[in-house]
Amino acid sequence: SAATSASKTIGLIPADGIGREVIPAAKQVLEALAPSGKPFSFIELDAGFEHFQKTGTALPQETVERLKGECDGALFGAVSSPSHRVAGYSSPIVALRKHLDLYANVRPVASVPGSTGAGSRPVDMLIIRENTECLYIKQERIEADTSPEASPGDQIAWADRRISTRASRRCGRMAFKMAVARHAATAAASGLSNVPSPKLTVVHKSNVLSITDGVWRETVKAVQAEDPSFAAVKVEEQLVDSMVYRMFREPEAFDVVVAPNLYGDILSDGAAALVGSLGLVPSANVGDHFAVGEPVHGSAPDIAGQDKANPIAAIRSAALLLENMGMAQEAQRIYQAVNAVLLEGKLLTPDLGGKATTTEVTDAVCRRL
Ligand code: ATP
Ligand code: MG
Repeated sequence: SAATSASKTIGLIPADGIGREVIPAAKQVLEALAPSGKPFSFIELDAGFEHFQKTGTALPQETVERLKGECDGALFGAVSSPSHRVAGYSSPIVALRKHLDLYANVRPVASVPGSTGAGSRPVDMLIIRENTECLYIKQERIEADTSPEASPGDQIAWADRRISTRASRRCGRMAFKMAVARHAATAAASGLSNVPSPKLTVVHKSNVLSITDGVWRETVKAVQAEDPSFAAVKVEEQLVDSMVYRMFREPEAFDVVVAPNLYGDILSDGAAALVGSLGLVPSANVGDHFAVGEPVHGSAPDIAGQDKANPIAAIRSAALLLENMGMAQEAQRIYQAVNAVLLEGKLLTPDLGGKATTTEVTDAVCRRL
C-alpha cells in the first residue's frame, strides 16, 4: 500500500448490470470528496459474467495483479449469476476474496433517523461474517442410501463444515478491533465521555454443533485476552436462532456482531430488511492489507441500463472502504451527505418510492459534500 501522505489509488470493478451505473456514481462522490486536496486516482478493471462470456474468464489475471500491485483498495459493483450452471464459470468476487485474503465480510446496518424499514426501531449495528470457511468450502458429495429402510434410488447428500482456530481467531481479532474503533468514533462524534462500552455479540449454535461451533466460540472469546484495549468490550453470546428473534424484536440491543460464514450470511440479509431497500446497504470484504467495498445488492438485470438504480449502497460501500483504509473522517462526510439527501426525501430512486434517477441522487450527494 502507498504511504498515507500520498494520494490513494482505488481499483474500480463495475462488472455487470447496474454495477456499471452505481460504481461510476461512487467514483463521482469520491472525486467530489477530494480529501484534503489530494484527489484519488482510479484504475478501471474488468471482471464479471459478461466479461466471461466475451473472453472465457470471469476474473482476468491482470485485474488481480493490478489490484495487488497498484491499488490501496477497491470497489466492486455486482455480478449477474447465471440461472443455470455454466461450464468453466465461477464467481469473480469469491475468487477475489481468496486471491486477496479478504477473510471477513463487514456489513454496517443502520437506520436513517426518521425513516423506517421493515421495523420501526432505530438500528445501528455492524455484522462481521467470517468469509473463508464453514459450509462454504463446498465439500459436498452424494451417495446411495444403503440403509435397510431405504427404497431403491434413495440418496444421501453430505456437506462438510470447516471451522479452524486460525480463521476464527483472525475474524475474532477483527471484531474486537472494530468494536473498539466504533466506540472511539461514537465517543468522538458525540463529545460525551460516558458513551456505553462497546459490545460484541458472538453468534453460534454450540448447544447442537458442540465441536465446530465450540471451536468458534472458544477461539473468538479467547481473543479478548490478547490486547489490553479489548478488555473494555462487553462480550455476550447468542445462539443463532435466538439471535434472529432478538434482532427483529430489539435490534437496538446490538452493537458489533460476529458470526461464522453461514449464520452471518443469513443474519446480514435479515438485518438489511430492518432498514429498507437493498439499494441502501453497503458491505466490505476485508483482510489485513486490503479491502474491497461491495454493495449488497446484485446486478439487478430488471432495471439495468435505465438510470433507475439506487446508487446509495455503492456510495456507502465507498465510504466503508475509506474507513478500512484509515480515512474515517472522510467516510463520515460521505455518510452524512447521504443521510442528508435521504432525510430531505426529495430526490429518491423508485425503490424508495421516489422518481429520481441514479444521476440525480448522485449529484445531490455531491452537492451536499
Ligand atoms: P443477481 O442475479 O445479480 O443476483 P437479482 O435480480 O437476483 O440479480 P438483485 O440484483 O439483488 O438480485 O435484485 C433484487 C431486486 O432488488 C431486483 O428487483 C432489483 O431491481 C432490486 N434492486 C437491487 N439493487 C437495487 C438498487 N441498487 N436500486 C434499486 N433496486 C435494486
Ligand atoms: Mg441475487
